[in-house]
Amino acid sequence: MTSTFEALALSPTLLSVVADLGYARPTPIQCAAIPPLLAGKDVIGQSRTGSGKTAAFALPILQRIDLEERGLQALVVCPTRELSAQVARDFRALGRRHAGLTVVELVGGQPSRPQRDALERGAHIAVGTPGRLVDHVQSRSLKTESLTTLVLDEADRILDMGFADEVEAILRALPVVRQTVLFSATFPESITAISEAYQCDAVRVRIADPDEAKDEIRQLQVVTDAQDRFHALCWLLHEFPHESALIFCNFKATVAELATTLANADISADRLDGDLDQFHRDQVLARFRNGSIRLLIATDVAGRGIDIEGLDLVINYELPQQSEIYVHRIGRTGRAGKSGTAISLTIVGQDKRIRAIEELTGVEIEIVERHAGNEVGLGVLLRSLAQGAKMETILISGGRKDKVRPGDILGALTGDAGGLRGKDVGKIEIQERLSYVAVERTVARAAVERLNRGRIKGKRFRATLVRGTATARGSNAGDRSSSRRW
Ligand code: AMP
Repeated sequence: MTSTFEALALSPTLLSVVADLGYARPTPIQCAAIPPLLAGKDVIGQSRTGSGKTAAFALPILQRIDLEERGLQALVVCPTRELSAQVARDFRALGRRHAGLTVVELVGGQPSRPQRDALERGAHIAVGTPGRLVDHVQSRSLKTESLTTLVLDEADRILDMGFADEVEAILRALPVVRQTVLFSATFPESITAISEAYQCDAVRVRIADPDEAKDEIRQLQVVTDAQDRFHALCWLLHEFPHESALIFCNFKATVAELATTLANADISADRLDGDLDQFHRDQVLARFRNGSIRLLIATDVAGRGIDIEGLDLVINYELPQQSEIYVHRIGRTGRAGKSGTAISLTIVGQDKRIRAIEELTGVEIEIVERHAGNEVGLGVLLRSLAQGAKMETILISGGRKDKVRPGDILGALTGDAGGLRGKDVGKIEIQERLSYVAVERTVARAAVERLNRGRIKGKRFRATLVRGTATARGSNAGDRSSSRRW
């Protein structure tokens, strides 16, 4: 689709601004999102940073803004302070010919007073982070009566950082008749749920990415034998690049053995089986979801009902006995608009089971050749896989009961001099009495120290790095006595 800004029916003022900024033509997301947004429709858009998404929602907002009206007309919710600053900057740049336009930033980590004063004096557009926005909405310093447009920018990241309650509180406080715009890189069920609850006849805008197969699961098998299974696993982990992978085994003894072997080779791996108590189970899942574990080895029983999806790789270390279990296992990949790969290690003589699965799914499970002739040795493979995860998880001894909110943790980590950058902080999960926060591995120790030295909500909490359960060295193997096999 080639288009021009003129063809998008932008005002002469905005056309001259985009020309000033050197934008030759609209990006695909701008072509697709600007017309429905100018028409006042709700939009749910897929976007990545760098796609030009900010201008895609900022231009229509600027075109529809009434500069005479001093009440707040547009509110943009961002996951981090950095993004808020950038979005506010973009609004000011694109609004440079809107004389008298006022854009305020309402983010945490800074005194609220000047923000309240700015709102009091009158602002057309506000951009901010969820926690602080809720404070302003609840104290009525942010009045929502004249608001016509709400944007959730990087909505998936907002939810990932644990701000679901704040988003709900903001959405509930807004006038019923308004335009609701949702931009997100991925579409997990939580985003679809927000769209269904708070948008009306939303126009879905998705830019086809040629590299992306939509919602597809590639199903493959690697034929091996019992002695060679582990080597085959390492080969395929090496061969199929992945951020994280879920590996299913039929029995918990296999899970424990595999997880320990991988972890002892300094590969980021942990286990999830019926022997883990609830606390460790939650902990492992939180770490897997937030990128602190690359490989999670699980049994079906432990894997049932767990809340992870959109994985890029699922491996059947062993084929399950029943085809339905196979379907359930591989369903964890390829969701949320992403493609995924499911690979099964099979052994000669399992043809009947594979046929049954193929019949049930209607898809052929393709055989991947392993070139057994010039095989890479196990040691070499293990060394190539030996890398830590991108993130580490910090456990904080305070949760919902202590009124700890994601913004408080984010604030404690990033605020003041010497703090972490917003982009070093990952998912934040607040539970009843404790919280998990993911931070970049390189800054993890500094982050723990900072949390232990400082306060959250004026209180002191204990922060510790969460260690894996799978290594022989640091194993919590006390529960091996259980008689269950999975
Ligand atoms: P964003 O995806 O909003 O983070 O935008 C990425 C960058 O692209 C920003 O620096 C924008 O200034 C720039 N940009 C946005 N729209 C256009 C366009 N139509 N042509 C060229 N650059 C653009």
